[in-house]
Amino acid sequence: MEDKETLAQWDKRYVWHPFTQMKDWLDAEPVIVERGEGCYLFDTEGRKYIDGVSSLWVLIHGHGKRELVEALKSQAEKLCHSTLLGLASVPSVELAKRLVDIAPNGLSKVFYSDNGSTSVEIALKMAYQYWQQKGEKKRKSFLSFVNGYHGDTIGAVSVGGIDLFHKVYRPLLFKARKTPSPYCYRCPIKMRPESCHLACVEVFEHMVKKYRDELCAVIIEPSVQGAAGMIIQPEGFLPAIRKITKENGLLFIADEVATGFGRTGNMFACLGEGVVPDFLCVAKGITGGYLPLAATLTTDEVFAGFLGEFDEFKTFFHGHTYTGNPLACAVALANLDVFEKERLIEKVRKDSEGLGRSLARFYNLSHVGEVRQKGFMVGIELVESRRTKKPYAAGEKIGQRVIMEARKQGVIIRPLGDVIVLMPPLAIEESTLQKLVDVTYDSIEAVTEP
Ligand code: PLP
Repeated sequence: MEDKETLAQWDKRYVWHPFTQMKDWLDAEPVIVERGEGCYLFDTEGRKYIDGVSSLWVLIHGHGKRELVEALKSQAEKLCHSTLLGLASVPSVELAKRLVDIAPNGLSKVFYSDNGSTSVEIALKMAYQYWQQKGEKKRKSFLSFVNGYHGDTIGAVSVGGIDLFHKVYRPLLFKARKTPSPYCYRCPIKMRPESCHLACVEVFEHMVKKYRDELCAVIIEPSVQGAAGMIIQPEGFLPAIRKITKENGLLFIADEVATGFGRTGNMFACLGEGVVPDFLCVAKGITGGYLPLAATLTTDEVFAGFLGEFDEFKTFFHGHTYTGNPLACAVALANLDVFEKERLIEKVRKDSEGLGRSLARFYNLSHVGEVRQKGFMVGIELVESRRTKKPYAAGEKIGQRVIMEARKQGVIIRPLGDVIVLMPPLAIEESTLQKLVDVTYDSIEAVTEP
């Protein structure tokens, strides 16, 4: 390995980092991660950090989990890659069955890809083509939520609702209507959660009824809008939305790229809310965070809409080179085995109660506006004024300063604007989780109440 100085120089010279203002990056010293062990990352200087955002929300059992590494090695010795175009492969078949077994009842077909954005693109394209092939040619748009995030490819951006990320691309995007999301802390329709009786559901229903003949599907991040700052939907919202889509004959896409694989205390958020979508998009935690893999699950009914004679061309003409990669599928199978063996869902449920209790004290800090938590997904929204909920000016970089403070204390976290996010690996030990929370608290205090 090259020495740290050389690596840092090469990084600055050659690497363009995602979601990063590179001017700031070039002025700073990068942390160069060299290895991981359990819930910790180690940099090239040997410094140890808690991986507080699960290496971008993917890690389930920690780094270097023996069962996952063994599954990878043993699959690598047999077969590293073979295409699913015209061929099947052992791990992709076995994994498809396992996914169908654990998914909400009624999802019966698995279409693989390799990241969250593509899992969404696939659902959007399938929904569109399904209606086209049914002769409903006017259906060309989608209904999605303000503050929604579904990935960075153009289709996923079209249904995205975070202006900061998406606005610049608007001229390139296809039509998607937006409906308000239940961001209760800053209610977009100026109601109060105690008395609103889910008025945003009525707005949604109005939108559905107005546009239903032009819509292919509704797309949502069930239970939690992650990238918008861990915005948690009030109880009853998701089932109500699902019911309305059914009554109006629309397809329903659940993007569980962030919430899937135990994050919310259920294997999938939809299961926790008794909802069965027409499409389930999964990625991130599917391999426990070891390899890129994604899947779009759908129903027999959608699948049947693509069956026909060869020369009818009803085929779903979509497929990535690494679709259903055997290494990734083998690791995903091992991931699910460990989920069962270590009863991880129960652990998350139990530990998230303790986490909730630890988070309550953040309200002692005067610039904490709201603390949001669902299972092991946490967002702490910092505000300049708690009374008026006035946000900090962007130039103050409050979120960024808090995470840099945490880094000094051996914790890696990442903000979403001024929302401090905690997404610990599901298998994190109680004492490490407590340290993550304590360092986050101290870092917020150091930056906002110096
Ligand atoms: N959908 C949701 C809900 C996400 O949170 C993300 C990523 O954070 C994506 C889609 C995109 O996934 P990827 O970054 O793997 O393309």
